[in-house]
Amino acid sequence: MSHIAENLKSVRERIEIAARRAGRSSEEIVLVAVTKTRSVEEIKEAMAHGVKHIGENYVQEAEKKFVEIGTAVCWHMIGHLQRNKAKHAVEIFDFVHSIDSEQLARELGRRAQAANRCIDVMVEVNISGEQSKFGVKPDNALDLAGSIRDIPGIRLCGLMGMAPIVNQPEETRPYFAKLKKLWDKLPDENRIFLSMGMTQDFEVAIEEGSNMVRIGTAIFGSRESLT
Ligand SMILES: *Cc1c(COP(=O)(O)O)cnc(C)c1O
Repeated sequence: MSHIAENLKSVRERIEIAARRAGRSSEEIVLVAVTKTRSVEEIKEAMAHGVKHIGENYVQEAEKKFVEIGTAVCWHMIGHLQRNKAKHAVEIFDFVHSIDSEQLARELGRRAQAANRCIDVMVEVNISGEQSKFGVKPDNALDLAGSIRDIPGIRLCGLMGMAPIVNQPEETRPYFAKLKKLWDKLPDENRIFLSMGMTQDFEVAIEEGSNMVRIGTAIFGSRESLT
């Protein structure tokens, strides 16, 4: 087995165990393989082993890969999206996890309509409170959700958040619990996905109610620093 296949097997087992611990089924948890900096070959290898969702952080990088991979997978935009990239983004992505303003949501909706598409979006919430992180303040998340849920061309389907980098996964628990609490307040039709959990903390995130995890390193190995 290749290292990607082995890693995927182990990640799936860990998702299964964490879900069971929380009294849930792993079938309700979507695995998004985060493929930033990864080659098309690596992505195809993951697809050959059952990956159906991939996450990218940059529109330009995704565009290049999309040409070769196409719609055989679901494409998730998980990085910060600039409004002037919305036109290109709607041609590639099925999901945008990083809505942090009404203007961005409106532009995305407008572009999606023009392309005859409907994009599933999530509001990104800055649960860590770190200045360097994107996303809206927790206090503003439900207001933003309310103001974008009727925009044509997009469909509000939940919230996304990132815990701070910590030494022990357990330390992320209060951040995820806080996001889950907000998510619980969304109207039923917008409460489809709670996108939280990455390599360092996905098991804790699942225990706290995540049903969409975004995992890169645990599948593909560590990203070489390109800077
Ligand atoms: C890079 C990234 C991930 C994946 O991180 P890993 O630690 O490699 O699992 C998840 N979510 C977002 C928003 C990212 O930018």
